[in-house]
Amino acid sequence: MRLKTKTIHCGVEKDSAYNSVITPIYQSSTFRFEDVGQTKGYDYSRTANPTRKALEENIAALEGGIAAAAVATGMAAITTVLHFFHTGDHIVCTHDCYGGTERILRTYRELFGIEITYVDMRDLASVEAVIQPNTKALWIETPSNPLLNIIDIRALSEIAHARGALAIVDNTFLSPVHQRPFELGADIIVHSTTKYLNGHSDVVGGAVVVNRRDLADRLFFLQNALGQGASPFDCWLVLRGIKTLVPRIKAHEENARAVAEFLDRHPNVLRVYYPGLTSHPNHELAKRQQHGFGGMVSFEVDGSIEEVNHVLRSVNIFALAESLGGIESLICHPQTMTHASMTPERREKAGINERLIRLSVGIEDINDLIEDLDRALRFKTIVPTSTRPAVVEV
Ligand SMILES: *Cc1c(COP(=O)(O)O)cnc(C)c1O
Repeated sequence: MRLKTKTIHCGVEKDSAYNSVITPIYQSSTFRFEDVGQTKGYDYSRTANPTRKALEENIAALEGGIAAAAVATGMAAITTVLHFFHTGDHIVCTHDCYGGTERILRTYRELFGIEITYVDMRDLASVEAVIQPNTKALWIETPSNPLLNIIDIRALSEIAHARGALAIVDNTFLSPVHQRPFELGADIIVHSTTKYLNGHSDVVGGAVVVNRRDLADRLFFLQNALGQGASPFDCWLVLRGIKTLVPRIKAHEENARAVAEFLDRHPNVLRVYYPGLTSHPNHELAKRQQHGFGGMVSFEVDGSIEEVNHVLRSVNIFALAESLGGIESLICHPQTMTHASMTPERREKAGINERLIRLSVGIEDINDLIEDLDRALRFKTIVPTSTRPAVVEV
């Protein structure tokens, strides 16, 4: 089966009771034994649940892995993977990883002594330079958030394997439609299914996918031991969302490309970050490694903070909100929202300034999206205001 067919058929049609075409929601904590010591494959829903299993088979098939675990959130997926490691192990992580990843790595260093080094993974030599004898994994996230830097999964996987380490890829930003890390050498893939996989902004969820038997055994042990499995209803929603993944991703990309090109020409925009633009510094790598450029666009407003705030307040269709990957368009100010927990120094180093705006481009009519942005960007006549958006940490 090809990817588009897999999204619709993998993991479903498993209802032996009534042959329902759509996977039922098995909202049951426990399952009756057939006889002493004999089940129909399920005994308790923390360990395994048929609806969750359907989603797991589906996601594993999309990524080309042998097994997946569907868990409660993207952070639960990341936490589960961190339990593959021991005190004294060392992980090398991309310097502009998701904020929650940085926070949990910091916590695991403090609690369990898992060492961590951040490095700009665009520079392969600097990755090699920080690898130690106890390095057990490279933590790769590409494209990065919010600047959409692209790093080379194949080259980094080779570096990891040469040193006996695992290559772990957070594939949330592109989904298996636009990037398939196992084909590039990765060993473990994590997802926040909250984003494109579910795609409708009505679930938080996560997944871990592996392509080796030993990693799969450890994953199922951890899923049961840690108890982070996703609920049957949430799994059912994500499975439903995935059925339209391919056309959704295509629609997101088409709109994102048009928005990026519009912003690129706009006199009140200083810079646009979109890997699909030929001006993006990693455009060639993105073309080679990805099957598309995704639906996220970031840009710097050519104006004061008051004018940036004016843009954020003036859009009507784009909602001022965190998260991404849903069908509706969202606008976000990384400095005061998604990246507020970073220290000013780390933000500065990562290139996140007060003029930066991040868009999750939805699948609405592109003309409405561009008109909305165009209206908001006509800030020349605005009255400056000193009120700033509230600072929230997520
Ligand atoms: C959102 C996100 C996460 C965390 O996922 P949650 O579902 O919010 O826990 C991890 N990685 C990336 C790249 C994300 O965008």
